[in-house]
Amino acid sequence: MNHQHTIHLSHAAISDALRKSGCVFAEDEARMLMAHASTSDELKSIMEQRIDGLPLEYILGWAEFFGLRLVVEPGVFVPRRRTEFLLRQAIRVIPEAGVVVDLCCGSGALGAGLLAVKRNLTMYAVDIDPRAVHCARQNLPDHARVYQGDLYQPLPSVLRGRVDVLVTNAPYVPTEAIARLPQEARVYEARMALDGGLDGLDIQRRIVASAPTWLAPGGHLLMETSSLQAHQTLDLFVTNGLVAQIAHSASADATVVIGERSTVSARVR
Ligand code: GLN
Repeated sequence: MNHQHTIHLSHAAISDALRKSGCVFAEDEARMLMAHASTSDELKSIMEQRIDGLPLEYILGWAEFFGLRLVVEPGVFVPRRRTEFLLRQAIRVIPEAGVVVDLCCGSGALGAGLLAVKRNLTMYAVDIDPRAVHCARQNLPDHARVYQGDLYQPLPSVLRGRVDVLVTNAPYVPTEAIARLPQEARVYEARMALDGGLDGLDIQRRIVASAPTWLAPGGHLLMETSSLQAHQTLDLFVTNGLVAQIAHSASADATVVIGERSTVSARVR
C-alpha cells in the first residue's frame, strides 16, 4: 500500500519546511501554496520547487503589485513592491487623459497600476522580451498597446513630442553585481531584465538620450534606479536637458529620478 498520498501536509509543516529553506514570509507562502494546489501531490511538488528556490510568483503564476494580481510567467521580471513608489510619483504628474509610455515594461505592472487609477490614459508599453510582452498583454486592458522591440523602436512615430509621461524600470544592475543578487533573481529571472552593463547605466543612458524627442513640452520621465546610482542617473537627465530631481523612499527602499522636458523647445536635440 502506498501511504504517500495520505500524508497530510499541514500549514505548520509547510511553513517549517519553507522557513528552514530560508523563506522570510514562510507562513504567508505556505498559505498561498495550499490555496494554489488542488491535490496533496501537487502541494508536495510545489513546496519542493519553492524549497529549491523557484520564485513563489512563478509557481502561482501571478504577483501582487499595487493591489493588483498580475500574470507573471517564468523568466519574466517579477514586479517589485518598491516600484509602487515610482507609480505613486507618476500618478502625481500624469494628466487624466494623458499619453503614457512604459519602456522595459516587463509584465506591464506600471501601466496596469496607472490605468487602475486613471482609466482614460492612452497607454503604450514596450519590452524586448516576447515572454514579457505575452504577460503584459494579459495584464493590460485591450485598449493599451503593447509592443515587442528595443526601447522606442516599435513606437509609432506620431508619438514624437507628444508623450506626457514616460515611465521606466529599466535594468540597472551593474554586470559584476548580478552575482550578488538573490538566487530568485539571479537564477530565475531573465538576465536581460536585470543587467544594465558595466556600470549598470547602459539602458538608462539610451532611454534618457532619446526621451526629450518623445516627451511633450512639460512632459515627465520617471526612472527607477538604485540609491547608489541615483546621482549618475540624475546626471544623465541633466546632460540631456531635462530639469530633474531625485525622489527617495527609505521605507520602500526605492529611488526614482524624475525629469521634466523644458517647455522651451530650443532645449530639444
Ligand atoms: N535587483 C533590482 C531590483 O530588485 C533590479 C531592478 C532593475 O534592474 N530594474 O529591484
